[in-house]
Amino acid sequence: SLTNFNRGFYMSTSSILFSRAEQVIPGGVNSPVRAFKGVGGTPVFIEKAQGAYIFDTDGKKYIDYVGSWGPMILGHNHPAILEAVLKTAHKGLSFGAPTPLEIELAELVCSLIPSIEMVRMVSSGTEATMSAIRLARGYTKRDKIIKFEGCYHGHADTLLVKAGSGALTLGQPDSPGVPADFAKHTLTCSYNNLDSVARTFEQYPQDIACIIVEPVAGNMNCIPPQPGFLQGLRRLCDQYGALLIIDEVMTGFRVALGGAQSYYGVTPDLTCLGKVIGGGMPVGAFGGKKEIMHYIAPTGPVYQAGTLSGNPIAMAAGLACLNELKKAGNQERLARLTEKLVLGLNELARKHKVPFCVNYVGGMFGLFFTDKTEVKSYQDVMACDTEKFKRFFHYMLEQGVYLAPSAFEAGFMSLAHSEEDIERSLAAADKAFAAL
Ligand code: PLP
Repeated sequence: SLTNFNRGFYMSTSSILFSRAEQVIPGGVNSPVRAFKGVGGTPVFIEKAQGAYIFDTDGKKYIDYVGSWGPMILGHNHPAILEAVLKTAHKGLSFGAPTPLEIELAELVCSLIPSIEMVRMVSSGTEATMSAIRLARGYTKRDKIIKFEGCYHGHADTLLVKAGSGALTLGQPDSPGVPADFAKHTLTCSYNNLDSVARTFEQYPQDIACIIVEPVAGNMNCIPPQPGFLQGLRRLCDQYGALLIIDEVMTGFRVALGGAQSYYGVTPDLTCLGKVIGGGMPVGAFGGKKEIMHYIAPTGPVYQAGTLSGNPIAMAAGLACLNELKKAGNQERLARLTEKLVLGLNELARKHKVPFCVNYVGGMFGLFFTDKTEVKSYQDVMACDTEKFKRFFHYMLEQGVYLAPSAFEAGFMSLAHSEEDIERSLAAADKAFAAL
């Protein structure tokens, strides 16, 4: 059994658990960015969560701005999701055969995001992007793809080239184990730089199957698209016969109910979804034009499958989440809470003369310790003061505010956050900025 006291001095149960975890789990975690490598110290182990709060294994309560990296948009343990999961679980956990719940969620997704005429469920964002890329390649009969420096689309081989998120934090944008022969088909352009994309198309006019893009980059902190950037990508894809894949794994149902594509008014050929679509259960999805979606098995030749795809519990959770989220006023409230937090932080940074700026769209935000007044590119993010971020992160953590443990991750608001939670977070930030 665990004890807080080890040879007479206090140790948090988290640090004891972490030592134990490191013996049997690589780095003590099942996904790299959880390891706190980007901020130092040991990760906080979580016992339970409720609404806007998570509680660690010592019972300490934190206001949570990670939200399981995006899915918990309604807050933790939302009664509608919990009830749907429990009710569905009583009927059996998995059948490997179709269920009505899959149709219901697919219909709801198609109605919320009109560019999606048909959708295939998978179990993670990685599977969604990997499968969408395969489909785009199969459909266009071309091999090359364009992605953007600093964007992360999961850890499929093709996409782990100059990836953001954990790969960026760990300083290994190109992972060993990805054959150079695979990576050579991935062309990398600069985010918010249409010229770099146009030049790449000029170089390979007949070879590019698709562009995949985060419509708001959320894996190199948070960088919204510059006006005209997404529309420009659409135009170039049309000009060269390539498909536009918008990766809304993070932005879907969060930037707007119809995703970032509805917010910015751009229509992709394919969309990838994850996170919010499962309400906390493992769900991803990819969908788009019927003609393209018919190209996957069993109607078409491009193979794609999954033992647990469309899992009934996961579908029930996703349905409950989206049905709750689409209630009137929710997106506006989410955006208002986000704005209150980030504008408050901005003001406090100015008060304490800390060079700082923020980006935010809908329910996601980014905090930057920088002299710049605007952060618009990967280079701008790289120029930020990560040491200051680390210290800020730990001051906030100490005061019970849980931010993403990396300077390269976006922050997430939930509908369970109250005005008072934001005010308490700002009071903590006042002290943190003062101490920097
Ligand atoms: N695409 C984007 C934009 C993401 O942010 C992520 C994960 O953070 C993924 C894809 C991969 O999703 P998953 O971690 O569910 O495999």
